[in-house]
Order: sequence, then structure tokens, then C-alpha cells
Amino acid sequence: MLTAQDFLAELQQRGALRLSRVHLRENRSVVWSLTQQATVLNVHAAYRAAPPELLDAFAIVAREGGVSSAATRRAASVISAWPDVWRAIEATRASRQLRSVTSCCATSEQRRYLRALYRYFNLTRFDGKLPDDIPVRLSGRMKSSLGHMVPIEDANGIREVEEIALNLDLMLERNGAERIDTLLHEMAHVADFLESGHRGHGPSWRRWACRVGCRPERLYDRPVAHRRRRRDPVQRVPLLPDALACLAV
Ligand SMILES: [Zn+2]
Repeated sequence: MLTAQDFLAELQQRGALRLSRVHLRENRSVVWSLTQQATVLNVHAAYRAAPPELLDAFAIVAREGGVSSAATRRAASVISAWPDVWRAIEATRASRQLRSVTSCCATSEQRRYLRALYRYFNLTRFDGKLPDDIPVRLSGRMKSSLGHMVPIEDANGIREVEEIALNLDLMLERNGAERIDTLLHEMAHVADFLESGHRGHGPSWRRWACRVGCRPERLYDRPVAHRRRRRDPVQRVPLLPDALACLAV
């Protein structure tokens, strides 16, 4: 298994002298990318076990600073055709979904509704900049809290968001406005965290909140209706306009 340093040394020995850093990341879909004027190579952590011919292929794209010629296109297709990396991505995705689904009390219809709403707001308010696959789950355990998002930052400073969770009470009929405001509030946290690394309600979050149209203040003391007893289930699914229903996949 190669460390990031080993990986860099292997590529430099193969003539990729422009490279100054390698980041190994547990990304879910991007297997490699060159950033910062092609001086930084981000590769999926599965490539720690890359055989020599794959390192040769990485050296070709790194030497030329990207995919620009027939040789680099060939190298790039060798890199992305490696089955082990896709197996690793699939395993990560499956374990995340499992963790998220087991702690979520949403019905499958509610999950579809939340997915459609997330996608709709991502497209219409965030210019599609947020990852498409962040799970939105419902929690029956939250008391005063209405929502949260779970940020992850790895040792290389690479940021991802594991999930957004909303209080189950928000699915009650009287809470429509707060449901939308809370989802946008959490999505603004996602955008702010991925962009700046900030997790609170500071100026960078407030700029996102104002831009996407949620109240630029904490989720505190909101006029929310609650279930009579906390163990009461809520299976209600608000009606989705037809235009959004196609996003519910
Ligand atoms: Zn907040």
C-alpha cells in the first residue's frame, strides 16, 4: 500500500516533475483530478494499491498536466477502467446508505419526497453546485433541534457532507413553511462548509442563506407544531407538484 508520499515519489521517478503533492481521498465518484495548475493530484484512496502500469498511466497525465492528447486519453482510460476503484466506491456508497437508512424513520415515500425537494432546491437555488447524492433523513429523536448536517473533513482537508437530518415533526401538516426553511438552512450549511470549511452561522453562511432565500438566523425558537408523543409515527407525505415528482428517484 502506497502512502501519498510514496505515490508522489513513484510519479516523480517517472518524470512527473511538475507535481508537488498527492492527496488520497475517499471520494464517492471522482476517481482522480489534477488541481492547482496541475501541481496537485487527487486520487481515490483505492489507488494506494495501484500496480506499476497504473502508476505509469498516472505519470503520463501528470507529466502533461491533464488529458490533452491521444496518449493522455489512453492513460486516463486505463486509470478509470481499473475495477478495484469502482469496487471501493460501491462499497463506500453501500455502507453510507446503510448507516443513513438505519437511523432514519422516513417511509420510502417520504424519502422520495425529501430527495425531490433537495434536488429541486439544488437546481433552482444553488445552481446545482451541491452534491446530488447527500441523503436527507428524518429523525424522530430530535427534541428542540429542527435539523443538522454532518460534515466530514479528512486528514488532507478534503470536505464532504455525510447527510442532512430533519426533525420528523417537520413533516406535520402545519409545519410546511418551517420544513422548507429548515431544509434550505441545512443546504446553506452544506454549501458554506464545502466552499469555506465553516460550520456555524457566520457571515459566509448568512450570505448563502440570503442568496437561497431562508431566514439568515439560527433554527431556534421557531413556531413549529410537535407530535403529541415523541414515539408517534408521522407517515404523511406532502403533495409534490408534478414538475418535482420526476426528481423523486
Ligand atoms: Zn444552522
